[in-house]
Amino acid sequence: MMGTPLTVVDLIERAEKYFPKKEVISRTHTRTECLTYEQIGKRTRSLSSALASLGVKKGDRVGTLAWNHHRHLEVYFAAPSMGAVLHTINIRLSAEHLIYIINHAEDKVLLIDADLLPLVESVKDQLNTVETFIVMSDEKAVPESSIEGLLSYEQIVADGDETYQFARDIEEEDAAGMCYTSATTGKPKGVVYSHRGIVLHSTALSMADTAAISESDSVMPVVPMFHVNAWGMPFVATMLGATQVLPGPRMTPQIIAEMMDKYDVTISAGVPTIWLGLLQELNKGTYDTSSLRAILCGGSAAPKFMIKAFESDFNIPFMHAYGMTETTPLVTLARLKSYQVDLPEEERLEIRSRQGQVVPGLEIKVVKDNGEEVEADGEEMGELLVRGPWIADEYYKDDRTKDAFKDGWLYTGDVVTIDEEGSIKIVDRMGDLIKSGGEWISSVDLENALMAHPAVFEAAVVSVPDPKWQERPVGCVVFKEGKEASEDELKTFLASQFAKWWVPDQVLFMDELPKTSVGKFLKRDLREKIKEQLL
Ligand code: ADP
Repeated sequence: MMGTPLTVVDLIERAEKYFPKKEVISRTHTRTECLTYEQIGKRTRSLSSALASLGVKKGDRVGTLAWNHHRHLEVYFAAPSMGAVLHTINIRLSAEHLIYIINHAEDKVLLIDADLLPLVESVKDQLNTVETFIVMSDEKAVPESSIEGLLSYEQIVADGDETYQFARDIEEEDAAGMCYTSATTGKPKGVVYSHRGIVLHSTALSMADTAAISESDSVMPVVPMFHVNAWGMPFVATMLGATQVLPGPRMTPQIIAEMMDKYDVTISAGVPTIWLGLLQELNKGTYDTSSLRAILCGGSAAPKFMIKAFESDFNIPFMHAYGMTETTPLVTLARLKSYQVDLPEEERLEIRSRQGQVVPGLEIKVVKDNGEEVEADGEEMGELLVRGPWIADEYYKDDRTKDAFKDGWLYTGDVVTIDEEGSIKIVDRMGDLIKSGGEWISSVDLENALMAHPAVFEAAVVSVPDPKWQERPVGCVVFKEGKEASEDELKTFLASQFAKWWVPDQVLFMDELPKTSVGKFLKRDLREKIKEQLL
């Protein structure tokens, strides 16, 4: 067979060539714009030409600090299609981490949303490699800024060459993008995505037995474009000429619901905390979400009650998926097999709340400490290992590579069980599993059970040291607006579902839970916070 390279260039050129009339709807800082793929293609080419004039060469890193909108989408294609590397930077990182990753990636250019300029202004003197700063706003005018020589995105696109020819010397193994993990401990770790990996991952997302993304979809990534390439949504949607609905800066559940309604979104993607918020919003009852065929949920475990609520109250099917920055990210996805669709509702829900089967193209195994594979009985726990063409094989210039990449496998650090159907269930992250009296307790299971209580909005469970049992679980709960429950009531609620020793000794009530930059519960901070409350 021919060894033609799989590159990101093919994705954007396909959209330009076959779907020029299809649209990208983009909520920006001041308005909602609608651009066709023809326009996006021309603007992308102009941007590539502008980057080339600014001295960006093959392999150079082009950083972005931006929300989900069409300009960010254009950089997604402009940088890799000229041979450079798109480096999406998490805008919620601390100043220390921001400086670290920009210097570590050696970004040459930074493209920054106007409202995020202060982030960069405050650290600019410590950035060692950035030569050009470009502000992305709806205006050609450059706003007041302490950054000298700041350029305007709209101006350079207007001055660029919309007939610019994308690079032809790209090898499929060349770097197309990079992203740093959000680092719950230590410094963020960089992951580099190859052209080939991105294209194969896009194909994987469009299979009928995965997310089945197609031309007829209207795709809305709520997951930020700085979080694992918005889980690959912009790439696959462009490849297929699907409509894209980009929800823009500082989106709220109300904005998400309004856009879903107005633009007939068919598939959306985000972390569970987003969907908990949306559920509250939909309960206000003023939205038509009948166009939605799937909500793709990943990043942390989707509570079963939430899957049920979306499906039975709003007829919105839920699709639970699992992955990580290192895996581009799709690894597993929970779907019912053909012979499971007639099972009783509870059983179906149980299957769909698991993280599911590995998608075609990847391999997984679950191993015990001694390296042997666990029984596929849904009981025995082990660490999940993954390998395949869109799985990283190292951290970018980082000694920690040797801890996670061994014998050709990625060691995910996730503790899982696998059942006879090959469906995995994440029990916990290795450090979050609670060991009480020599037995393991899954914080994830307890959290999901707590969040199913009608008064509970969010819940996290962490371990505290215990002189007798070694560790014990403590629940931390945020109530829904206007609702409350007593500690005893919540414990009794859990006692009806779990063995007695699983029930947390204490449940603490909080106004909010600390979250990571991508909306997951930040257990490390929570442990610190509760230390004071427990004293
Ligand atoms: P970070 O590692 O910085 O949190 P990632 O987005 O890469 O950022 O997180 C990957 C981790 O998120 C996985 O290793 C796993 O622990 C967790 N995760 C992802 N998807 C799911 C899911 N569907 N259910 C439970 N945990 C998940």
